[in-house]
Amino acid sequence: MIKRADVIKKYAALRRTMLESYQSAPETYSEAAAAMDKLLDICQKRTDAELVKQAIYYQDIIIDCERQMPLPSEPDGRTAGIYKVHRYTMQEYNEARDNLQILCGNNVKVGDVFGEWTVLRNLPDNIYVLCRCSCGKERPVSKYTLLTGKSVSCGHTRVINNLKRRRAEFIGKTFNEWTVLDVFPGREALCRCSCGTVKKMFLSTVISGRSKSCGCKRNAGHEQESEQAMAAGRAYKEAFTAEGLNVMYLGKKVNKNSSTGITGVGIYRNKRIGEELYRAYIVVQRKQIALGLYRDINDAIAARKAAEEKYFEPLQKQVDELKKKLKHKED
Ligand SMILES: [Zn+2]
Ligand SMILES: [Zn+2]
Repeated sequence: MIKRADVIKKYAALRRTMLESYQSAPETYSEAAAAMDKLLDICQKRTDAELVKQAIYYQDIIIDCERQMPLPSEPDGRTAGIYKVHRYTMQEYNEARDNLQILCGNNVKVGDVFGEWTVLRNLPDNIYVLCRCSCGKERPVSKYTLLTGKSVSCGHTRVINNLKRRRAEFIGKTFNEWTVLDVFPGREALCRCSCGTVKKMFLSTVISGRSKSCGCKRNAGHEQESEQAMAAGRAYKEAFTAEGLNVMYLGKKVNKNSSTGITGVGIYRNKRIGEELYRAYIVVQRKQIALGLYRDINDAIAARKAAEEKYFEPLQKQVDELKKKLKHKED
């Protein structure tokens, strides 16, 4: 059994020789090319399960590295040492790429079929191939995703399956006065009101009950309530905007996008010293105010809390008073 490290070394050496000699020394080049063929043959004899497992491992390294460093534009101008990444070095990144090329390269050929994809031609980086989907769409797909079955089509099958499922689920169903007649790709559906009016509607509007009828029942009080609620909502918004306040102060929730799960505290990666810090901030009237970097997350939370008291409390008071005033007007 040939060792992985040996394959990498041999592959890299042969590749270098081939690149250096293909113009100046044809003999050296063909020797190296023959050796390369032999090496790839050996790699191909590995079992598929092994190949997939290793390919996933290398792909993980590559993805991890690419997330954490800007990719150099010139593939051969890459130098190890300058790029120090979080978990892997530039050298490990290059090795992983080479390895992936060895493992996948020989197993994906022009004309091969993977699910709906047909391979059209190789691409220069040796990691991607140009593929055509059965629906006609052409796109570069990585050999790794083809071999591991992670990509089986351009996604059109998902759209079709999704539509099939929605048609089976909703056609013929009745929501309030609406009966669903047909469901189209995207958001729209053809619906018939109990009065006979047929109209194109957003399916979600009908299902959720935001629309209960074509409007024919409105006078019967069906939709009057929602009309009233909408008018009230508009009045609130207008009043807040006139005072220069933001509606978001009403019932503030934790921001799901926060990298720490705590509103106003994010993770800051200092690439130079390779350390993660906690960054506290607050958004007031749509402007973000920085509250400093902290080693301890509790310090960052405390900074955010203090800022909330400073910035939000006066605003919240203003909001509460405005709400009270509007409530009086309604009554
Ligand atoms: Zn397709
Ligand atoms: Zn109607």
